[in-house]
Order: sequence, then structure tokens, then C-alpha cells
Amino acid sequence: MTAHRDHAVSRLRDGFDLLVIGGGVNGLGVAWDAADRGLSVLVIDKGDWGSGTSSWSSRMIHGGLKYLEKLEIGLVRESLRDREWLLRRAPHLVSPLPFVLPFYRNNAHHHLVLRAGMVLYDVLSFDKSLPCHRVYGRKGTAARLPSLCRDGLQGSALYYDAQVAYAERLCVEIMLAARRAGAVTLNHAESVGLTVADGRVTGARVRDVLTGDVHQVRARFTVNVAGPWADSVLADVPAGSKRLIGGTKGTHLVVDPFPGAPNRAMYYEALSDGRPLMVIPWLGRYLIGSTDKRFDGDLDTVRADEEEIDYILTETNRLFPSANLTPGDILYSYTGVRPLPYVPDGAPGDITRRHILHDHRPHLDGLLSVIGGKLTTFRSLAEHVVDEVGARLGRRTRCRTRRLSLPGSPPEGPAAFTRSFAAESGLPEPEARRLARIYGVRAREVATVINASPELGRVVDPASGLRAGEIVFAVRQEEAATLADVLARRTMLGLEPDLGRSAMDAVAEVCAAELGWDEAETERQKTAYRRYLRRFLERDPDPQTASRT
Ligand SMILES: Cc1cc2nc3c(=O)[nH]c(=O)nc-3n(C[C@H](O)[C@H](O)[C@H](O)COP(=O)(O)OP(=O)(O)OC[C@H]3O[C@@H](n4cnc5c(N)ncnc54)[C@H](O)[C@@H]3O)c2cc1C
Repeated sequence: MTAHRDHAVSRLRDGFDLLVIGGGVNGLGVAWDAADRGLSVLVIDKGDWGSGTSSWSSRMIHGGLKYLEKLEIGLVRESLRDREWLLRRAPHLVSPLPFVLPFYRNNAHHHLVLRAGMVLYDVLSFDKSLPCHRVYGRKGTAARLPSLCRDGLQGSALYYDAQVAYAERLCVEIMLAARRAGAVTLNHAESVGLTVADGRVTGARVRDVLTGDVHQVRARFTVNVAGPWADSVLADVPAGSKRLIGGTKGTHLVVDPFPGAPNRAMYYEALSDGRPLMVIPWLGRYLIGSTDKRFDGDLDTVRADEEEIDYILTETNRLFPSANLTPGDILYSYTGVRPLPYVPDGAPGDITRRHILHDHRPHLDGLLSVIGGKLTTFRSLAEHVVDEVGARLGRRTRCRTRRLSLPGSPPEGPAAFTRSFAAESGLPEPEARRLARIYGVRAREVATVINASPELGRVVDPASGLRAGEIVFAVRQEEAATLADVLARRTMLGLEPDLGRSAMDAVAEVCAAELGWDEAETERQKTAYRRYLRRFLERDPDPQTASRT
């Protein structure tokens, strides 16, 4: 146990104004906003911060071109406003990303419709810092992207959105912002049943997943922000019989740069079904996806299926004929389930992407469930939720998060900060750059820990330059409590092509010393991490893993 965790567990006895169940991007956003407005808040997650859907997305901070087609104008405007906020208030994590949208004769949408959509996208983001779109004819497009399929090519548009390469770190930083604002934050803590008295939710029984202890938590109001798990949080209470979530599964493939790989992100229409797909430059590799299939299976073990892999490879090879991508080229894949509202019929693509606040009255008072929501719009979703909670608690207050920045945000901008940090940190430049990219200005705090002693400055993973002090920082300052927390959502080695396998033993050793794990617990942590990696369908699954786990 860490000092933070001890303290957070001891606070569970206190009553709270607000209990937030679910520490994905949206639950953390709610906790931050509510704590900032002066409510006493507890936010819990059954796993780690951001370990649910928030880790499995396309990592785009976008207005959502495809929502224009559904005439979800309000959603697009809100998303574009939040995109701008993130570019300004979290520039170390969110950066502009140019996209090319090719126009083909056989597209489901005529190129004039696509061009009109581009104009509308610019109009709806009139207050943006990103450039407006530009249109190129067939020749100009082919000159800029010579490897693009020319069959039926009519031209293209170049437009701008943004990318959060480490969406996991976005969640960690929102958690830190919530904690700084006064929220009590406890990961690996599961709601195992809401408590109800006189038709009102009065809190929840919370199981500490690391110790097995169950605590009774009292709260004046509870928000269920458990993403695709939202229905299971409500399982034992009379919340109304309606099913809330109808999740759809989305898969991405990660590949190395391939012959003809574009130097821009691509947003294109699949030939087979007209769905939008993206090829996105990401961490020196390419993220390609995603699919959209209804899903009712196990949310904790969902992974890609052959049909999805075949679909993504076929459509990418069609767009870039020289790519010739095969399953053997896939470094890994990952899959998430969109927490969309349950709609029994129709195409998954037709289900609204707007978030919905489900009020459980008259069945239950003191409870709201959040359905849907994107990474991009977590701030405005949280504002909406906390406005509603404030009204229900008789404590109306104004949201201030629009004027706040995330904790790692460098006031001088990421480039200037990285330059000065590289000069002052005493670390080799590539290491300093890596820390600045992951932690923003908080890289200085990481460097202070690293420089505190030779043991903390010891290189643990020569490939990345990861040092023991960074792992200690993850545990002491960022609430990492398991090996997977450290690898997958703090140091980000878990997104490397080997998914952090080569560093696993050495990282586990430092964790063991810091968290007091004995040999058996250390082995258990490694086994759990290998099991977690099964979700990624790696290219070369380690044969030893299969026999050991
Ligand atoms: C394939 C795909 C691509 C996407 N691409 C994008 C994109 O490019 N841009 C974008 O803006 N959005 C994108 N999204 C949408 C976005 O990722 C999600 O809508 C968003 O992350 C949902 O966040 P959340 O906090 O609501 O849910 P989650 O991140 O799922 O968080 C819910 C949390 O609740 C916890 N939980 C569950 N049950 C309990 C319990 N009983 N007790 C305590 N905790 C519990 C879970 O562990 C989980 O961490 C994409 C989604 C998918 C699936």
C-alpha cells in the first residue's frame, strides 16, 4: 500500500456529496469539475484510471466529420470547441493532425457533398487555431500522395483535427487535476452494489480489489459513469428495467510504416460498406481502424476477430495498393466497446454519438447514469453532469474548467518547454524528450526523483531509457498499483511494439521493492500482465506465455 492509498481508503468512512463510479475520461472529468466547484467527491474505478474504453479508442480529438452526415450539428460544434480547449490547455498531450480525405467516384458520398461537409466543418470551428481545409484536384492529390489508389480518384481535401497519442495519460492527468481540486481518488476499487433507502441511492458498497476489503460508502448523490459497464453497476437495484447500453465493438491494427504509407493521416470510405476508416500516423507507426459491430460479450476480454482484421487489411490495401499488408504485418491489435445507448435495431453507425444523462426517477432518486460521450468532449460532458448534480443537490455553481489547464500543460508551449527541460534535466536528450512528451511540465518532478540517488537514476530499460525513479514516481505520485498500471498507463512502454514485454521483469523488480511485493506476488503481477496482453493479439505470441497463463 502507498501513503496515498492508505489515506484514500481511510477517507471512505467520510460521507461525500458525490460518488463517481467509473474512472474513465468521463468519470474523471466529472470528479474534477465537481471537486473544483466545491463538492466533496469520491471517484473509484474497478481497474486503473482510463483502463476501460478510454484506452481503446482511435485517439482522435475531433469534431467528428461523420456526425455531420447525421446532422448532429450540436455535437460537432461542441466537439470542435472542446478540441480547441484541449489544444490550448493540454498541448503536451494533444497535437494538431493533418488529415487527407480522398474523393473517389465510387464513394457513397458525392465529392460535392464531401466538400460541402468540409466547409461546414470549418464554419462550425470558426474560432479554431487550426488552418481551414484545402481542396486538391486529381493531379494535385496524386502528386502529394503518389501511392494512393488512382482508380476513380477525383481529388481530395486536406483538413485538420487533433490527436491524443497517449489517451491513457490524458486520463491520469484529469485524475491528478481532480485530486488537486480536493477529490478523493481510489483506483482498483469496485462498486459491488448501490445502497438504497426510501427510494434513494445513498452510496455504494465498494470492494478494494487489492485487499478484498468491502467498505460502505455514503454519498448524497451518485453518478454512474461506468461506460459500457453502466448496466452492471445498476444490476441489483430497481433502476427501471430498461437496458441502457448497446455497445459496439471497434478494432484497430498497429503496423510499422509500410510501402506507400502516407505522411498524413487518411480518412476514407471503405469500399465494401461505405463506413469511414482511418490510417493514422501514431508513435512512429500506423494505427488503422476502426470497425463498428454490435457487441454483447465479455467487456474485460474483448479483442479483434478475423473478420475485422480482414476488413481493415483489405480496405487499407485497396487505398494503398503497394502496401500489401497481411496479418503477419500486424504488430498488435486492440479493441474497445463504445458505450452507446441501447437501440435494438438498425446499423451501429446510425446510433447517436451524443451523450445522454439518464435520470432514474421515479424508480430511484439520487442517481444519474451517463451513456455515451467521447474522449474529445469529456469536459463539456462533465459540465453538463455537474450542472445537473448541483441542481439536484440545491447547490448551483458555475463551471470553471473551461478556464483551467491540465497539470502537465506547459505555459510556454511544448516545444519551448522540451528545449529548456532537455538543457536543464541532466538527462540524455532523447530521454528528456520522452519524459516531456509523456509528462509535460511534470517531467521536472520525474527528473527530481531520478536525480535523487544513483539507484533511482539506474536505467531499467535501455531501449526506452526508463529509469527506476520514473517507476517510483508512477507509484508515489500517480497511483500506479499494479505492473500493468506502470507499463500500460504511466510509462507507456505498453504501447511499444513488444507491448513492454522486454522491460517487464526489470520494471516488476522496481515495483516489488516500492510496493512491498514478495516473490509470489511479483510472479502473480507478471502473469496478470501477460494475461492482459492477450487482448492485443500480438504478431508473435510468446509460446511460454501460452503455457504459463
Ligand atoms: C473503437 C473506438 C474508437 C473511439 N475513437 C474515439 C476517438 O477517436 N475520439 C473520441 O473522442 N472518442 C473515441 N471513442 C469514444 C471514447 O473512447 C469513449 O466514448 C470514452 O472513452 C468513454 O469514456 P468513459 O469514461 O465514459 O468510459 P470508460 O473509459 O469505459 O470508463 C468506464 C470505467 O468504469 C469502470 N467501471 C466499470 N464498472 C465499474 C464498477 N462496478 N465499479 C467501479 N468502476 C467500474 C471501468 O473499469 C472503466 O475504467 C472511441 C471508442 C471506441 C470503442
